[in-house]
Amino acid sequence: MQESAQSPVTKYKRVLLKISGEALMGQREFGQDADMVEQIAQDIKTVRDMGIEVCVVVGGGNIFRGISGAAQGMERASADYMGMLATLINALAMQNALERLNVDTRVQSAIPMASVAEPYIRRRAARHMEKGRVVIFGAGTGNPYFTTDTAAALRASEMGCDVLLKGTKVDGVYDADPEKTDNAKRFESLTFMEVLKQDLRVMDHAAISLARENNIPILVFSIYERGAFAKVLQGGGRFTIVQN
Ligand code: UDP
Repeated sequence: MQESAQSPVTKYKRVLLKISGEALMGQREFGQDADMVEQIAQDIKTVRDMGIEVCVVVGGGNIFRGISGAAQGMERASADYMGMLATLINALAMQNALERLNVDTRVQSAIPMASVAEPYIRRRAARHMEKGRVVIFGAGTGNPYFTTDTAAALRASEMGCDVLLKGTKVDGVYDADPEKTDNAKRFESLTFMEVLKQDLRVMDHAAISLARENNIPILVFSIYERGAFAKVLQGGGRFTIVQN
Protein backbone atom coordinates (compact mmCIF):
# COMPACT_ATOMS: atom_id res chain seq x y z
CA MET A 1 0.00 0.00 0.00
CA GLN A 2 1.57 3.27 -1.08
CA GLU A 3 -0.83 5.85 0.25
CA SER A 4 -0.41 7.32 3.69
CA ALA A 5 -3.95 7.68 4.95
CA GLN A 6 -4.29 7.47 8.72
CA SER A 7 -4.58 3.88 9.81
CA PRO A 8 -7.79 2.96 11.64
CA VAL A 9 -5.88 0.88 14.18
CA THR A 10 -3.42 3.48 15.39
CA LYS A 11 -3.48 7.13 16.27
CA TYR A 12 -0.10 7.73 14.68
CA LYS A 13 0.24 9.14 11.19
CA ARG A 14 4.00 9.69 10.98
CA VAL A 15 6.58 7.96 13.14
CA LEU A 16 10.35 7.87 13.51
CA LEU A 17 12.16 4.65 14.36
CA LYS A 18 15.61 4.88 15.90
CA ILE A 19 17.67 1.75 15.40
CA SER A 20 21.00 1.55 17.18
CA GLY A 21 23.98 0.03 15.45
CA GLU A 22 23.97 -2.58 18.20
CA ALA A 23 20.50 -3.76 17.16
CA LEU A 24 21.80 -4.49 13.67
CA MET A 25 24.52 -6.71 15.12
CA GLY A 26 22.09 -9.35 16.33
CA GLN A 27 24.19 -11.96 18.14
CA ARG A 28 27.40 -10.88 16.43
CA GLU A 29 30.22 -9.01 18.12
CA PHE A 30 30.66 -6.45 15.36
CA GLY A 31 29.12 -5.29 12.08
CA GLN A 32 25.73 -6.34 10.74
CA ASP A 33 23.77 -9.54 11.01
CA ALA A 34 21.97 -10.02 7.68
CA ASP A 35 19.03 -11.88 9.26
CA MET A 36 18.55 -9.15 11.84
CA VAL A 37 18.68 -6.41 9.21
CA GLU A 38 16.09 -8.30 7.18
CA GLN A 39 13.84 -8.85 10.20
CA ILE A 40 13.88 -5.13 11.01
CA ALA A 41 13.18 -4.31 7.36
CA GLN A 42 10.19 -6.66 7.44
CA ASP A 43 8.89 -4.96 10.60
CA ILE A 44 9.26 -1.54 8.97
CA LYS A 45 7.39 -2.78 5.90
CA THR A 46 4.53 -4.02 8.09
CA VAL A 47 4.15 -0.58 9.64
CA ARG A 48 4.43 1.20 6.29
CA ASP A 49 1.76 -1.16 4.92
CA MET A 50 -0.54 -0.08 7.76
CA GLY A 51 -0.55 3.34 6.07
CA ILE A 52 1.78 4.95 8.59
CA GLU A 53 4.53 7.23 7.29
CA VAL A 54 7.88 5.95 8.52
CA CYS A 55 11.30 7.52 8.77
CA VAL A 56 14.33 5.88 10.34
CA VAL A 57 17.50 7.08 12.04
CA VAL A 58 20.27 4.51 12.22
CA GLY A 59 23.18 4.45 14.63
CA GLY A 60 26.71 3.34 13.92
CA GLY A 61 27.98 1.87 17.18
CA ASN A 62 28.29 -1.59 15.62
CA ILE A 63 31.03 -0.21 13.39
CA PHE A 64 32.60 2.83 15.03
CA ARG A 65 31.94 5.09 17.99
CA GLY A 66 33.67 8.46 18.20
CA ILE A 67 34.24 8.15 21.90
CA SER A 68 36.24 4.91 21.47
CA GLY A 69 38.40 6.55 18.82
CA ALA A 70 39.00 9.50 21.14
CA ALA A 71 39.91 7.10 23.95
CA GLN A 72 42.67 5.74 21.73
CA GLY A 73 44.10 9.21 21.27
CA MET A 74 42.27 10.38 18.14
CA GLU A 75 41.00 13.90 17.93
CA ARG A 76 37.36 13.67 19.06
CA ALA A 77 35.87 15.55 16.11
CA SER A 78 37.65 13.35 13.54
CA ALA A 79 36.59 10.24 15.40
CA ASP A 80 32.99 11.48 15.43
CA TYR A 81 33.06 12.05 11.67
CA MET A 82 34.17 8.45 11.31
CA GLY A 83 31.22 7.44 13.49
CA MET A 84 28.85 9.41 11.27
CA LEU A 85 30.22 7.67 8.18
CA ALA A 86 29.58 4.36 9.93
CA THR A 87 25.89 5.24 10.21
CA LEU A 88 25.81 5.67 6.43
CA ILE A 89 27.04 2.10 5.99
CA ASN A 90 24.14 0.92 8.15
CA ALA A 91 21.69 3.19 6.32
CA LEU A 92 22.66 1.65 2.97
CA ALA A 93 22.30 -1.87 4.38
CA MET A 94 18.84 -0.99 5.70
CA GLN A 95 17.86 0.55 2.37
CA ASN A 96 18.98 -2.55 0.52
CA ALA A 97 17.03 -4.86 2.83
CA LEU A 98 13.88 -2.74 2.45
CA GLU A 99 14.14 -2.56 -1.32
CA ARG A 100 14.48 -6.33 -1.51
CA LEU A 101 11.04 -6.36 0.15
CA ASN A 102 9.78 -3.92 -2.51
CA VAL A 103 9.60 -0.97 -0.13
CA ASP A 104 10.61 2.27 -1.80
CA THR A 105 13.21 4.08 0.25
CA ARG A 106 15.45 7.10 0.15
CA VAL A 107 18.58 7.61 2.18
CA GLN A 108 19.26 11.21 3.15
CA SER A 109 22.64 12.06 4.59
CA ALA A 110 23.39 14.95 6.93
CA ILE A 111 26.89 14.94 5.38
CA PRO A 112 26.54 15.48 1.61
CA MET A 113 27.59 12.35 -0.25
CA ALA A 114 26.05 12.82 -3.67
CA SER A 115 26.93 9.46 -5.19
CA VAL A 116 25.32 7.34 -2.52
CA ALA A 117 22.58 9.37 -0.84
CA GLU A 118 20.43 12.45 -1.18
CA PRO A 119 21.45 15.38 0.98
CA TYR A 120 19.16 15.99 3.93
CA ILE A 121 16.34 18.26 2.76
CA ARG A 122 13.46 18.48 5.20
CA ARG A 123 10.66 19.23 2.76
CA ARG A 124 11.88 16.62 0.34
CA ALA A 125 11.96 14.00 3.08
CA ALA A 126 8.37 14.87 3.98
CA ARG A 127 7.32 14.55 0.36
CA HIS A 128 8.95 11.11 0.10
CA MET A 129 6.99 9.94 3.12
CA GLU A 130 3.74 11.30 1.73
CA LYS A 131 4.39 9.11 -1.29
CA GLY A 132 4.79 6.05 0.93
CA ARG A 133 8.58 5.93 0.80
CA VAL A 134 10.57 5.11 3.89
CA VAL A 135 13.22 7.76 4.51
CA ILE A 136 16.41 6.66 6.23
CA PHE A 137 18.42 9.45 7.77
CA GLY A 138 22.16 8.82 7.87
CA ALA A 139 25.18 10.67 9.28
CA GLY A 140 23.37 11.65 12.48
CA THR A 141 23.03 15.39 12.92
CA GLY A 142 26.08 16.00 10.72
CA ASN A 143 27.90 17.45 13.72
CA PRO A 144 30.53 15.94 15.99
CA TYR A 145 29.87 15.74 19.75
CA PHE A 146 26.31 14.56 19.13
CA THR A 147 24.73 11.12 19.00
CA THR A 148 22.27 9.46 16.69
CA ASP A 149 19.76 9.52 19.57
CA THR A 150 19.90 13.31 19.40
CA ALA A 151 19.65 13.06 15.61
CA ALA A 152 16.50 10.96 16.08
CA ALA A 153 14.91 13.56 18.38
CA LEU A 154 15.95 16.33 15.97
CA ARG A 155 14.59 14.65 12.85
CA ALA A 156 11.39 13.59 14.65
CA SER A 157 10.89 17.24 15.62
CA GLU A 158 11.67 18.59 12.15
CA MET A 159 9.49 16.04 10.39
CA GLY A 160 6.58 16.61 12.77
CA CYS A 161 6.50 12.96 13.82
CA ASP A 162 3.77 11.95 16.28
CA VAL A 163 6.08 9.65 18.17
CA LEU A 164 9.69 8.47 18.34
CA LEU A 165 10.26 4.75 18.76
CA LYS A 166 13.51 3.58 20.18
CA GLY A 167 14.20 -0.03 19.35
CA THR A 168 16.54 -1.57 21.92
CA LYS A 169 17.61 -5.03 23.05
CA VAL A 170 15.11 -5.00 25.93
CA ASP A 171 11.39 -4.33 26.20
CA GLY A 172 11.46 -0.93 27.91
CA VAL A 173 13.25 1.26 30.40
CA TYR A 174 14.65 -0.31 33.59
CA ASP A 175 16.25 1.27 36.65
CA ALA A 176 19.34 -0.93 36.09
CA ASP A 177 20.64 -3.06 33.24
CA PRO A 178 18.21 -6.05 33.23
CA GLU A 179 20.85 -8.24 31.59
CA LYS A 180 23.20 -7.67 34.51
CA THR A 181 20.85 -7.07 37.46
CA ASP A 182 18.33 -9.75 38.51
CA ASN A 183 15.73 -7.53 40.15
CA ALA A 184 15.93 -4.53 37.81
CA LYS A 185 12.62 -2.65 37.89
CA ARG A 186 10.85 -2.00 34.60
CA PHE A 187 8.84 1.19 34.10
CA GLU A 188 5.52 1.25 32.21
CA SER A 189 5.60 5.02 31.82
CA LEU A 190 7.86 7.89 32.77
CA THR A 191 7.91 11.63 32.32
CA PHE A 192 10.81 13.31 30.57
CA MET A 193 11.66 15.05 33.84
CA GLU A 194 11.84 11.71 35.69
CA VAL A 195 14.22 10.37 33.05
CA LEU A 196 16.42 13.45 33.35
CA LYS A 197 16.35 13.62 37.16
CA GLN A 198 16.98 9.91 37.70
CA ASP A 199 19.50 9.87 34.84
CA LEU A 200 17.80 6.80 33.34
CA ARG A 201 19.52 5.40 30.28
CA VAL A 202 16.79 5.93 27.71
CA MET A 203 18.60 8.35 25.46
CA ASP A 204 21.19 11.01 26.20
CA HIS A 205 20.05 14.22 27.85
CA ALA A 206 20.23 16.31 24.68
CA ALA A 207 17.83 13.91 22.94
CA ILE A 208 15.44 13.77 25.90
CA SER A 209 15.41 17.56 26.24
CA LEU A 210 14.66 18.03 22.55
CA ALA A 211 11.82 15.49 22.58
CA ARG A 212 10.46 17.09 25.73
CA GLU A 213 10.51 20.63 24.32
CA ASN A 214 8.79 19.47 21.15
CA ASN A 215 6.37 17.23 23.02
CA ILE A 216 7.23 14.06 21.12
CA PRO A 217 6.58 10.92 23.19
CA ILE A 218 9.24 8.21 23.11
CA LEU A 219 8.27 4.54 23.07
CA VAL A 220 11.07 2.19 24.09
CA PHE A 221 10.59 -1.41 22.97
CA SER A 222 12.51 -4.52 21.94
CA ILE A 223 13.45 -4.42 18.28
CA TYR A 224 14.58 -8.05 18.62
CA GLU A 225 10.99 -9.18 19.07
CA ARG A 226 9.57 -9.82 15.63
CA GLY A 227 6.50 -7.68 14.87
CA ALA A 228 6.88 -5.55 18.01
CA PHE A 229 7.19 -2.28 16.05
CA ALA A 230 3.65 -2.62 14.64
CA LYS A 231 2.24 -4.03 17.87
CA VAL A 232 3.57 -1.17 19.98
CA LEU A 233 2.10 1.41 17.61
CA GLN A 234 -1.28 -0.23 18.17
CA GLY A 235 -0.85 0.04 21.94
CA GLY A 236 -0.06 -3.68 22.42
CA GLY A 237 3.05 -5.58 23.38
CA ARG A 238 5.55 -4.41 25.94
CA PHE A 239 7.06 -0.95 25.92
CA THR A 240 7.80 2.02 28.15
CA ILE A 241 6.34 5.36 27.20
CA VAL A 242 8.22 8.55 28.06
CA GLN A 243 6.18 11.71 27.74
CA ASN A 244 5.46 15.10 29.32
N1 UDP B 1 27.96 10.86 15.66
C1 UDP B 1 28.26 12.21 15.68
N2 UDP B 1 27.23 13.11 15.50
C2 UDP B 1 25.94 12.74 15.35
C3 UDP B 1 25.64 11.35 15.37
C4 UDP B 1 26.66 10.44 15.54
O1 UDP B 1 29.40 12.60 15.81
O2 UDP B 1 25.07 13.59 15.18
C5 UDP B 1 29.06 9.88 15.76
C6 UDP B 1 29.54 9.61 17.17
O3 UDP B 1 30.93 9.43 17.11
C7 UDP B 1 28.88 8.30 17.53
C8 UDP B 1 28.86 7.58 16.20
O4 UDP B 1 28.63 8.63 15.24
O5 UDP B 1 29.61 7.58 18.48
C9 UDP B 1 27.81 6.51 16.04
O6 UDP B 1 26.57 6.96 16.50
P1 UDP B 1 25.89 6.42 17.86
O7 UDP B 1 26.96 6.11 18.87
O8 UDP B 1 24.84 7.37 18.25
O9 UDP B 1 25.26 5.05 17.34
P2 UDP B 1 24.39 3.96 18.13
O10 UDP B 1 24.81 3.99 19.58
O11 UDP B 1 22.96 4.34 17.97
O12 UDP B 1 24.71 2.69 17.42
